[in-house]
Amino acid sequence: MNYAAIKKNDIANGPGVRVSLFVSGCRHHCRSCFNREAWDFAYGRPFTQETADEILEALAPSYVAGLSFLGGEPLEPENQAPLLSLARQFRERCPGKTLWCYTGFTFETDLMSGSVGNPNTLRELLSLIDVLVDGKFVEELKDAGLIFRGSSNQNIIDVPKSLKAGHMVLLEGVWRRTMGSGDIEEI
Ligand code: SF4
Repeated sequence: MNYAAIKKNDIANGPGVRVSLFVSGCRHHCRSCFNREAWDFAYGRPFTQETADEILEALAPSYVAGLSFLGGEPLEPENQAPLLSLARQFRERCPGKTLWCYTGFTFETDLMSGSVGNPNTLRELLSLIDVLVDGKFVEELKDAGLIFRGSSNQNIIDVPKSLKAGHMVLLEGVWRRTMGSGDIEEI
């Protein structure tokens, strides 16, 4: 797996201050993609254990709320095993912090069916993720008032509850910024 970037004080991709890993490779090819260079699996730099150590070190301060996976497409078959390894280390080293993952796949249609990559690898990886933001970015459904997602077709999913229920359960307390005022309200 290659990666394009690591952001160590990211406040846009999940709650609180987070460490965000942007991996390379994506076959979704959304029409309005803002990140086309990351479609190429060879873009960026190789992800190594040294990269994982750098990320885990950046997660250590108490003010860091957690880790987010973005891309590219984190759940492309080629990226699942390296991210599973990192997620396992994250769970061991960072108790109390959360793991978010952004994917262009849909939770119920693509991921629950086990048709994306290795079913065992994907299932374990999902079991280590707290929140999944699913679905492709759709320009026509773009809404600047949405928080933690770009278009209204995307879901912010409570993964542990969804795996237990066997169907998608949305995260409670999803917020919307009221246009103009900057206030945040729950929807
Ligand atoms: S899933 Fe993300 S990276 Fe992939 S094409 Fe769509 S917007 Fe671009």
